Amino acid sequence: MNASVVLFTSDLRLHDHPPLRAALDGGRLVVPLFVRDRGVEEAGFTAPNRLAFLADCLGDLNAGLRRRGGRLVVRSGDVVAEVCKVAAEADADEVHMAADVSGYAHRREERLRRALEADGRRLHVHDTVTTAVVPGALTPASSDHFAVFTPYFRQWSRQRLRDTLGAPRAVRVPDGIGSEALPSRDALPQLSPALAAGGETEGRRRLAAWLRAGVAGYEDQHDDLAGDATSRLSPHLHFGTLSPVEVVHRARNTGGPGAEAFVRQLAWRDFHRQLLAARPHAADADYRTKHDRWRTERTAGEDIEAWREGRTGYPIVDAAMRQLRHEGWMHNRGRLLTASFLTKTLYVDWRVGARHFLRFLVDGDLANNQLNWQWVAGTGTDTRPNRVLNPVTQAKRYDPDGAYVRRWVPELEDVEGPAVHEPWKLRGLDRAALDYPDPVVDLSEGLARFRRARGKD
Ligand code: FAD
Repeated sequence: MNASVVLFTSDLRLHDHPPLRAALDGGRLVVPLFVRDRGVEEAGFTAPNRLAFLADCLGDLNAGLRRRGGRLVVRSGDVVAEVCKVAAEADADEVHMAADVSGYAHRREERLRRALEADGRRLHVHDTVTTAVVPGALTPASSDHFAVFTPYFRQWSRQRLRDTLGAPRAVRVPDGIGSEALPSRDALPQLSPALAAGGETEGRRRLAAWLRAGVAGYEDQHDDLAGDATSRLSPHLHFGTLSPVEVVHRARNTGGPGAEAFVRQLAWRDFHRQLLAARPHAADADYRTKHDRWRTERTAGEDIEAWREGRTGYPIVDAAMRQLRHEGWMHNRGRLLTASFLTKTLYVDWRVGARHFLRFLVDGDLANNQLNWQWVAGTGTDTRPNRVLNPVTQAKRYDPDGAYVRRWVPELEDVEGPAVHEPWKLRGLDRAALDYPDPVVDLSEGLARFRRARGKD
């Protein structure tokens, strides 16, 4: 036996890929395998936008492998059964894969290890493929994980990251290993019209462009909603078409405060992953419960629907919710203020919002989505859990002349300047001419309800 299987999961790239490098060691034959995992589909974690991005990624991975003499093998079904089957067909004695953080990923890894060992094969799980720093490597004195970002970031920043690895020159696949056809985005229904393209080639192009012309202004401009001056690398980090280790190294090499601020955000990504790895239940249960008796679909159905559809009557909230549907992506400031609006102003369960985001976000990621929702809802790691973002104040600060709102809410495109953030204040004809809803809630009533619920009257 001198063959290996490399199971690709959230690491759909050839550059800086430790499992592939290890599998190729000593000139071995390698089966690069992707399994369309029925477990993930049954858990409801697939969404059309992400399936489309995934199809792009698999197509690009296959093309990259072909240029090196190999190809991608795609199967679908139970991941453990499929890997064992392929390993037997290739007579492979080892399987390499990346470590991942969710409870589902841990169970999958354990099942796979046992099944392979029963067949006399070994599973090698590689760290620092989907994170820059290994989850669990940094801990405070009194716990198995960090619950506060600042001290985590201090330690994270002092870590020496491993060197990056180049892409392999050649990949030789054993003969006779069958593959299904690669999925295509064309057959998928209900995609966001302006969905980004996936794949390692596109990810690397975006990263290079960002480091050349974007990152220097990041510190000053990252919160400017209309400026749209963030990297938009999140789906590439989610699908692993970019390596977090490589992104951190290359950003640091450019230097300057913009790069530092950007790297800090990558540390947030690792922070949430180390937290989910230690507390897998935080994907669904409050990390730090406040004993909320949230409003839900049953008790707040109309408000929730208005929020989902972007017709709450608060233009900045509606603009961001419409961006989500149109692009499958939303600016971070938009995510913060729409999530605060749902959980605090409307006092609706954070899981309702997290589910809706996962339905559309092309970067929809269990660790980042659920734990950011919990952060905003005050059930997570925010050290000020009862803060409430006022959507009008936020709008005036982060969209000062209203360009972002006018871009996404055409009903308001003729309203000039910051007046667009408070259409209820427009007088006379102006107001009547607008086909735009009244606010679903009065902000001070929403605030009072939240304070009562949290016992902060
Ligand atoms: P940049 O500002 O360019 O940041 C660079 C990278 O750092 C991002 O690509 C991302 O990987 C990471 N990052 C940035 N901000 C955060 C953060 N707050 N937490 C963790 N990592 C961060 N991010 C996701 O990747 N998937 C999600 O499902 C997701 N859901 C979110 C839900 C809510 C309610 C909130 C408030 C935030 C969520 N985020 C999520 C975090 C953040 O909004 C996005 O990562 C960011 O907007 C992506 O855009 P960008 O790549 O241009 O980010």
